[in-house]
Amino acid sequence: MPKHDVNKKEIRMRGVPVSAGVAIGKAFVLGCNLLKVESCALQEQEVEREITRLHAAIEKAKQELALLRDQTEELLGERDAAIFEIHQLMLEDTELVGEVVRRIRSEKKNADRVYLDVVTEYEQSLTKSKSELFRSRVTDLHDIARRVIRHIQGDTDKKSDHLPGPSVVIGTDLTPSDTINLKQTDVLGFATELGSRTSHAAIMARSLKVPSIVGLGDLCRLISTGDQVILDGNAGTIIIHPDEATVADYRKLLKAYRAYVQKLEKCKKYPARTRDGKNIELAANVEFSEEVKPALQDGANGIGLYRTEYLYLTRLELPSEAEQFTEYKRIVRSVGGQHPVIIRTFDLGGDKAQKHFHIHQEANPFLGFRGVRLYSGNESIFTTQLRAILRTSVYGKLRILLPMIASVSEIRYCKEMIEKTRVQLSDEGVELADEIPVGAMIEVPSAAISADLIAQECDFLSIGTNDLIQYTLAVDRGNKYVANLYRAYNPAVLRLIRDSIRQGHEQGVWVGMCGEMASDPLATMVLVGMGLDELSVSPVSLLVIKEIIRRIEYAECENLADRVLGYATADEVEKYLLSVFKNKFKDLIFSELHNQYNI
Ligand code: PEP
Ligand code: MG
Repeated sequence: MPKHDVNKKEIRMRGVPVSAGVAIGKAFVLGCNLLKVESCALQEQEVEREITRLHAAIEKAKQELALLRDQTEELLGERDAAIFEIHQLMLEDTELVGEVVRRIRSEKKNADRVYLDVVTEYEQSLTKSKSELFRSRVTDLHDIARRVIRHIQGDTDKKSDHLPGPSVVIGTDLTPSDTINLKQTDVLGFATELGSRTSHAAIMARSLKVPSIVGLGDLCRLISTGDQVILDGNAGTIIIHPDEATVADYRKLLKAYRAYVQKLEKCKKYPARTRDGKNIELAANVEFSEEVKPALQDGANGIGLYRTEYLYLTRLELPSEAEQFTEYKRIVRSVGGQHPVIIRTFDLGGDKAQKHFHIHQEANPFLGFRGVRLYSGNESIFTTQLRAILRTSVYGKLRILLPMIASVSEIRYCKEMIEKTRVQLSDEGVELADEIPVGAMIEVPSAAISADLIAQECDFLSIGTNDLIQYTLAVDRGNKYVANLYRAYNPAVLRLIRDSIRQGHEQGVWVGMCGEMASDPLATMVLVGMGLDELSVSPVSLLVIKEIIRRIEYAECENLADRVLGYATADEVEKYLLSVFKNKFKDLIFSELHNQYNI
């Protein structure tokens, strides 16, 4: 790292740590390289075409802003979303647009160059303004210019965000496609203004083992590409322009963290078995086929949840049966016949709306058309996915998981569809496995309360705590203003988990957990004690959870679970679990607990 620039003061910010690890390096602000604009002379006959390009770009930017506005309103409420309305107004400002058009005609230069020139002049006069309000609009103007210029340059999917080398990636928010488009080996860390622990971008960051922080307020205003930065994904701290003493401290921390990781690596090749001999299936949650191999290397017993949504979210068209088959087969094959791969049918809707599904504007999308509820109205899309999934059954131990199950009739419907597809494929001469277990996610309270009925209809249950907590406590999982109410250890949630496991077992099916709670080291003893058969965790948590399982006894976990179920509040449960953890696993302090619970 180059020497600290003494003119720049160290800035420390706290956000929500979502993926552990420490990164020291240079910042790369997403989208900031888009203002590289060249100047080209136009021929007389090219001028009007250039103006058309300008208007088309403004139109696209407008559509983008409308989408951002809606997403922000959903996530943070109307007040925060209002900024995008202001951006829209600025974008359509007739004076500004008129000036750009006039100058394209008179100067005969390319639209992006002229647009940038005009905006820069506006910015300069605003900077000089006595009014703070006007001065604060400079950042907004800059944002708009970036958006319009990106579209004039025909770069709609931000592909121009090529990292110049290993970088800490900074952005307002991180979409799954942002994450995928970046060269993963060059990403040292992620830091974003929006987001939450269970937002899908955060889950992805953990999967990619990239230290990450979300919820960093107005970070982008304070940081530029090339700035030196330290990102502490354990504590949730980002330090911009760190001074030399800080860098030295963090180098030490990084060293200690690496030693901790090395220690965990030692348990890779051992089974996830308690000291008194109870085996726990420890599987991994993945989104991409690339994540499978590293997870298996860390000793995962297969894939406990493969989220298929990204196949739909990362392309404009629906993924074809062939495309899906290739991707699913790659995953099932790389796990091989020894361990299961649980493929979840698409859980779109909610925060992952998709244009192909004709979802109406919904006041409460998380309570609307989401997951399994979309299937009957979009049967051909569902069948295409089922065909692709079923065709992979001969390549390994395939299981199918159904999301957002709230009632028995939904499972019956899905099973009928699976059977129909199976017959269709057999008639076509496609070879299929004899047995393909079908399971239900337990992530809606009604499913947890009637887990016995659900279990009678399927072969396994997998508890999805991310949604189960949200729906049980009526707390939006992505809303940072109520994040303090989103508590896995609320007694109501714990009881639902306990009862689901019991009822599943009484019906003779195994019960796993694929929600993020399974990745929480504080929860391991409780979940093992409640009798879970399988824990499917973020790849980054595999080793620490395995290390904990290997150090505990099932009998003590049963006692601990009983005790915990006797507490009346989440605070009491957490306090008790923390005291046990500090006592038993002092050396695992670097696990994500460190930041989540301030220990
Ligand atoms: C869950 O809800 O716990 C879950 C695993 O599903 P997702 O996070 O994809 O909604
Ligand atoms: Mg869910």
